Amino acid sequence: MYKRLIILSIIILAALCGLVWMGYHSIRIRAQGLEGARLGEFAAVAEQVRQDVTRRLDEFMQTEQSRPYTDYQYYYVPENVAPGRQQMPVLRSPLAGRLEQGLAYGNFQIEPDGSVITPNDNVEQRQDLAESDNELYAEAGLNRKNIEQNLLPALGGTTPGSLKMNLYGRSSIAPAKESETVGQDQFTEQTPQKGKVSQSYPIESLQSKGQKTQVIEQRREVFEQNVLNVAAQSQQQTQELAAQTGQTGGPYERQAASPAESQTETVQVRIEPFFPVVVPGEDPVSQQAESIFGGQVFLLRHVQIEDRHLLQGFQLNEKMLIEQIEDSASRFMRKGMSFELSPREKARDNGNVAYAAILNFGFGDLVLNLKEIDPGWIGKEISHLRIWYFSIVAIVLLAVSLGLASLWRNAAAQIRLAQKKDDFISAVSHELRTPLTSIRMYAEMLEKNWVKSQDKAVEYYGNMRQESERLSRLIENVLDFSRIQKGRKKYTFKAGDINKCVSDVVEIMRPYAVQKGFSIRTEAGRIEQAAFDADAVTQIIVNLLDNAIKYARNAEDKTITVRTKTDGKFTVIEVEDHGPGVPHRQRNKIFEQFYRPAAESTRETAGTGLGLALVKKFAEAHNGFVEIISAKPTGAIFRVALATRI
Ligand code: ADP
Repeated sequence: MYKRLIILSIIILAALCGLVWMGYHSIRIRAQGLEGARLGEFAAVAEQVRQDVTRRLDEFMQTEQSRPYTDYQYYYVPENVAPGRQQMPVLRSPLAGRLEQGLAYGNFQIEPDGSVITPNDNVEQRQDLAESDNELYAEAGLNRKNIEQNLLPALGGTTPGSLKMNLYGRSSIAPAKESETVGQDQFTEQTPQKGKVSQSYPIESLQSKGQKTQVIEQRREVFEQNVLNVAAQSQQQTQELAAQTGQTGGPYERQAASPAESQTETVQVRIEPFFPVVVPGEDPVSQQAESIFGGQVFLLRHVQIEDRHLLQGFQLNEKMLIEQIEDSASRFMRKGMSFELSPREKARDNGNVAYAAILNFGFGDLVLNLKEIDPGWIGKEISHLRIWYFSIVAIVLLAVSLGLASLWRNAAAQIRLAQKKDDFISAVSHELRTPLTSIRMYAEMLEKNWVKSQDKAVEYYGNMRQESERLSRLIENVLDFSRIQKGRKKYTFKAGDINKCVSDVVEIMRPYAVQKGFSIRTEAGRIEQAAFDADAVTQIIVNLLDNAIKYARNAEDKTITVRTKTDGKFTVIEVEDHGPGVPHRQRNKIFEQFYRPAAESTRETAGTGLGLALVKKFAEAHNGFVEIISAKPTGAIFRVALATRI
């Protein structure tokens, strides 16, 4: 029994340990899963931002790419003019009027001789400045100066003349600049900061890779008109510049079409893709001390019309680009996320960043730092989960422990009961054997006529009767106990004189008591009619008297008092002896079935441990109870209370 229970307990405890271990690990896996999922969210947001920025930049570049080359001049002759007209209409460039054109700022064209023209900076117009145009011309002038002073030297020459050689070979400019920009390889070599993940997101819109060279046919007449206009404007500007700086500019040669060329109706205009050029240093227009890309970013394209080479382009409006990226980023932010844009170098020392998406424009990087608004939210969620889980485990553990404890208690009780039953069987056998032996002995003596006198014979018959009565009492107890156990005990409650019932039993028991040296006194109180089961009351008194005779056999005072009284609610029967009494700690236990204390007085007497258990059951059947009180000077008073109304 215990062995099985031990195995069961070990299995249950092992299962619980397994549960705790599994829970602990699944919480860890959950934490990792949350971190992974969050990282995935950051990556997804970064990718969405990249796509959005790329789309917007692609659209912008598409517009810039398809912009006619004539837009970069102050005037232009439109394409749809009827051929052969003497007077060609001249229109102002659609770029005129303001320097800011979306992400483009200050569109300009570098002429073959290195001079710079812009759609807003016309020398003829400057002669007679309108008040309102003052600001625009001033700004356009600054822009032109910036190109001449910063871009042109960066392109490979300080004077327009020396620049000439580079203008025709784009390759001599672009690769030199590309090597200056921070490449993706450099980035991957970085050791990522603890707790921060960095990933590069290429945005190729501003690089020349995705675009194609366009070749368009244009009517020679229109081309010449455009070229003439521009050339005139450019020449005037070059002269002006030379006058201002005191330098002699490179010889300007008007590249008018030769008579042979004029014979062909059309000219081919070859427009190459834009390519980025970063000019280190401060941007004099926006006055920004520090550019994100390490300098001013220009986008240039090479335009070739027959043997005439032009460079057209604009400065990338960095402020607007950042605004656009911020706009895209704020649209894709998810719950609990925030962002910050920073140049690459600054991003490295920012510890709060959970995910750094490096937007790689090819010529420079911009870092989109994605942050957790509450960086500890995963930790908090996990600790909540942990508290929940371990509370549940604690409850389960408690429940299982209680279950196991009650199992152990039950098992122990079962074992005790089995032990008591064993004792009971041997006690009953002993109890049966003793009176039977006496009866057989007296019967033999009478049978063999060994009895000397008639008086002796009467005494032997009396003894035989007493032993038989003892046997009957024992069998009666066992049978009643068995009936009660099976729930088959029937009671017949009848109103009657309980005092009479008690005195009848006393009279039956008296000879036996007298033989054992006891005297029985009865004190009958005034008792109204009460309903009771006569057999049960008889057995209660028999058992109590039997016990008094058994356990007070060595008492000095061998008087047994049987008392009846009433308090209205209960009819009380008391049996008082002056034997050893019952110690306080045993007073509840002795009413348990089969219970026999290990005391000497008990060990010396035969018994089954059923007598008082039956007294209690019978009292309870009468809605009553039984209790023990100490008698004076020694002894025990067994008080049985039976409800007067059942
Ligand atoms: P049994 O007498 O067969 O042992 P009982 O249920 O009648 O079983 O009694 C239970 C125990 O109560 C006895 O073993 C005895 O120790 C104790 N007991 C009962 N009556 C008395 C008494 N009058 N005085 C002292 N002890 C008693």
